[in-house]
Amino acid sequence: CICSSNIDVIPCECDEHSLETFNKQTVNPLLQQMMGRVFFRYFKVNLERECPFWVDHDRCSIRDCAVETCTREELPVSLRSLPSAKTPSQGQMDKACAMEKELSSVDTSLTNEQKVDVSNWEGLNDDNFCVMDDEDSSDCTYIDLSKNPERYTGYSGPPANRIWRAIYEENCFKPSEEFSAYSLARAMQLETCVEKKAFYRLISGLHSSISMHLCAEYLHPFGRWGPNYEEFFRRFDDSVTDNEGSSRVRNLYFTYSMVLRAVLKASPRLYAEQFYTGDPVDDELIRKDIRQFLHSLSHFRLRFDEHKLFCGDHIHKEQFRHHFRNISRIMDCVGCEKCRLWGKVQTQGIGTALKILFSDTAHMENLNLKRSEIVSLWNTLGRLSSSLIHLEMFKKALEAKPELA
Ligand code: FAD
Repeated sequence: CICSSNIDVIPCECDEHSLETFNKQTVNPLLQQMMGRVFFRYFKVNLERECPFWVDHDRCSIRDCAVETCTREELPVSLRSLPSAKTPSQGQMDKACAMEKELSSVDTSLTNEQKVDVSNWEGLNDDNFCVMDDEDSSDCTYIDLSKNPERYTGYSGPPANRIWRAIYEENCFKPSEEFSAYSLARAMQLETCVEKKAFYRLISGLHSSISMHLCAEYLHPFGRWGPNYEEFFRRFDDSVTDNEGSSRVRNLYFTYSMVLRAVLKASPRLYAEQFYTGDPVDDELIRKDIRQFLHSLSHFRLRFDEHKLFCGDHIHKEQFRHHFRNISRIMDCVGCEKCRLWGKVQTQGIGTALKILFSDTAHMENLNLKRSEIVSLWNTLGRLSSSLIHLEMFKKALEAKPELA
């Protein structure tokens, strides 16, 4: 891959500073309000889809991993034609937990696992950057996201590492040969191919956001939820992460600005959306929030520039799309149900952002976006935005009291 130049889409720290301020003063307060509204709370998802890559994928419904589904009566009238919510039987849960324990306790499970090529591209019959659940499937059900917050669940060890490894090693683009002796993170810092670099940063930023939430809402002894400074330090401090911590943080800013840019580009389409739930008061309030949000965003100097991608003869849009679709399928292999839920919301959100940014639609107001794409896009922005708020909180606390680390 020979790329024309080594340009980056958000080039310097001053952009991060202005993004942080804009996020704190404008984006986050509005999003907090919006994500509590009916339209954005309900997400239709299939958490029962088979993992297409491993035969021994783990499914565990341990307490903090379990997702609370909602009944038909809880749903807004606009969404009531759904099949009744399902809950796993005790037998299914016991079996899945036994499997999870076995997988977590056997250190060699990764090397012994049946090798399956997860880089196989999914059949492509639409323009999406992610593989969407079939909303008509009887396994699809609505989840109230506000009742299933993304936070620490305890999902870890070989099953969780295997997912991240499959994502980075088999579905991110390989670094150019001259950097292949370095770790992937270092190679991607040196990488000159802007698309390879952007793909990696997008995924790493999502990973950082997931890590940030589990550090900020960690389960301490006696059932207390709150920040875990040691965990933050372990995952994000340069001295512990071999100088990778700050690039993980920078990648979080990258993913955030990419999704913000997509929302800005989709403004004509979003202004036209009715956000219908059947509750006229809530529907009007959300349209007002959206208008205010898009107006503020249009006045912010956002530096993300998608035109710097796919302008040369290196990585093509189709390859980028195929790789990201595969990652969305890997989410069906995530063993923890709640992590799977948020993994699916956020890969769909990022997939929707990519679809918007690289859509050839001449008139954005005509862009075909389904309800679930709009819900996942905004919720993903909400997650990334609160990660930045958590980041600031951690940084301030550690500056004031270094002994916390
Ligand atoms: P991991 O986070 O598993 O990372 C694996 C390796 O990737 C690291 O050793 C490091 O080399 C590299 N790495 C780490 N961060 C980055 C980064 N930002 N960029 C590039 N490389 C990096 N756990 C929860 O408690 N709650 C959740 O909601 C949750 N959601 C998840 C969703 C998904 C899709 C997945 C795959 C996992 C989720 N997990 C969740 C598990 C969590 O992400 C970790 O896997 C787990 O906490 C174990 O962490 P770890 O220290 O082993 O490193």
